[in-house]
Amino acid sequence: MFDYLVVGAGFAGSVVSERLARGFGKKILIVDRRNHIGGNAYDHHNEDGILVHRYGPHIFHTNSEQVYQYLSHFTAWRPYEHRVLASVDGKLVPIPINLDTVNLLYGLNLTSEELETFFAARAEARSAIRTSEDVVVSKVGRDLYEKMFRNYTRKQWGRDPSELDAQVTARIPVRTNRDGRYFTDRFQVMPKHGYTRLFQNMLDHPNITIALGVDYRDVVHDIEFSELIYSGPIDEYFDFRYGELPYRSLRFQHETVNVEYLQPVAVINYPNEHAYTRVTEFKHLTGQVHRRTGIVYEHPSSSGDPYYPVPTPENAALYKQYAAVAAVTKGVHFVGRLGTYRYYNMDQVVAQALTLCKQITAAPGFEYPKAAAAAASVGQRISAVPALGI
Ligand code: FAD
Ligand code: UDP
Repeated sequence: MFDYLVVGAGFAGSVVSERLARGFGKKILIVDRRNHIGGNAYDHHNEDGILVHRYGPHIFHTNSEQVYQYLSHFTAWRPYEHRVLASVDGKLVPIPINLDTVNLLYGLNLTSEELETFFAARAEARSAIRTSEDVVVSKVGRDLYEKMFRNYTRKQWGRDPSELDAQVTARIPVRTNRDGRYFTDRFQVMPKHGYTRLFQNMLDHPNITIALGVDYRDVVHDIEFSELIYSGPIDEYFDFRYGELPYRSLRFQHETVNVEYLQPVAVINYPNEHAYTRVTEFKHLTGQVHRRTGIVYEHPSSSGDPYYPVPTPENAALYKQYAAVAAVTKGVHFVGRLGTYRYYNMDQVVAQALTLCKQITAAPGFEYPKAAAAAASVGQRISAVPALGI
């Protein structure tokens, strides 16, 4: 008899499992239909011994002290500040757009102040910022939008930026200084021994049983459990009763190249060339020393595993119908990028999972053994974490 059946061993399912088991003494069964833990953050050594991220580059960054401290129980970190270049007009220029991007692309020598005037002269007025096109053209104007955003977005999403919510391109800031970092978050680090090791440490607890290569639908009627935590696609849970929620997929083309380093930075974006969007070289992220190098091309696709919820007004409306039925489905908790149809980064999923645990454990009728009470408060230092092997 399990207290919880957890569907999905990604960040959402793993954090909830860890907290309920280690913090509250609950018995957990996690099932994942993949043959590994870690969900999309899974990494492994490829056949050439290079540590790669099977489902594309995963760079950890957060402003949340709570999330950072929580994950620090399960991994040591290596400092890493992400940098991305975009291949535009035959040049490699920084993205997010900054002073160097504009000077390089247009052969100028502007100062930051002059760049503000440059943007102001080109920015298109918008009464409201609703779409991903509005976000960019209202800041930098149409030419930079077309060079850096329009085609990349059409490739990545199969839709024009004018059809996508503002949140998609709003992930990328515009700068007038020379800061070439992709993120400016307070914590920018990578798990020192990789994500999979982090997950192994998180899930290494006698109360947690893991079944891999198992779809929960095939076992749900054979297992005794009290409640379900579900981090798979929410529309699938409800048998698509309101229709399918659209997801964008990717095909990952992994290669090992016989040079020590191939690219000057971890990621190069190709907004206007090729069918793929970007090429990632993992050694920049992982710090691994190896005489060869592992890269991955990302080819966007409308079919395949559901990686990205597609943020449009119609999809938000459809999701609302599922969220409404989820809210009245007793004994089932929906969490994660697919379970709540949100374009979330890893840290946001961890925060959401910790919040869910707080709600579950504060609900009337929730019981936990007295001995576990001292370690029960989600997000506080866990005094009872056993040796983690890191
Ligand atoms: P997932 O990791 O998708 O886990 C859900 C799990 O549920 C899956 O393993 C799936 O197999 C399992 N499952 C689903 N249905 C069933 C079922 N019926 N039965 C059994 N198991 C089931 N975030 C960042 O912070 N930084 C980045 O740099 C970054 N880069 C990304 C790059 C790409 C290409 C992608 C796709 C995502 C990236 N993300 C990044 C986002 C990150 O992957 C997610 O925020 C995070 O992994 C989501 O965790 P999750 O547990 O919600 O979902
Ligand atoms: N984007 C773009 N050009 C770029 C980088 C990003 O048009 O060079 C847009 C694109 O729509 C992309 C979104 O900004 O999907 C968010 O980019 P991010 O790098 O955050 O995407 P993710 O890592 O989530 O795939």
